[in-house]
Amino acid sequence: MFDMYVVKNITDYLKLCKKCNTYHINNYNQICIVCKKFYCKDCSKYELIRNYNEYETTSNYCDSCNFLYFNYLYK
Ligand SMILES: [Zn+2]
Ligand SMILES: [Zn+2]
Repeated sequence: MFDMYVVKNITDYLKLCKKCNTYHINNYNQICIVCKKFYCKDCSKYELIRNYNEYETTSNYCDSCNFLYFNYLYK
């Protein structure tokens, strides 16, 4: 039997991968900076794109956010 404090800690620690729908340890390198979608280590290789913006050096963007923010680069 878990108390609520323990349950909250577990859900903060574990994130559901949007691609393969399994739980993984939270890692901020595997989250889209715009929509906060989390991907596991394997899926993030295909789903997340490292890109630049004017405020930060590099950040991760999912496919759709990357397109939204950087499509002017591809015209
Ligand atoms: Zn995954
Ligand atoms: Zn995104």
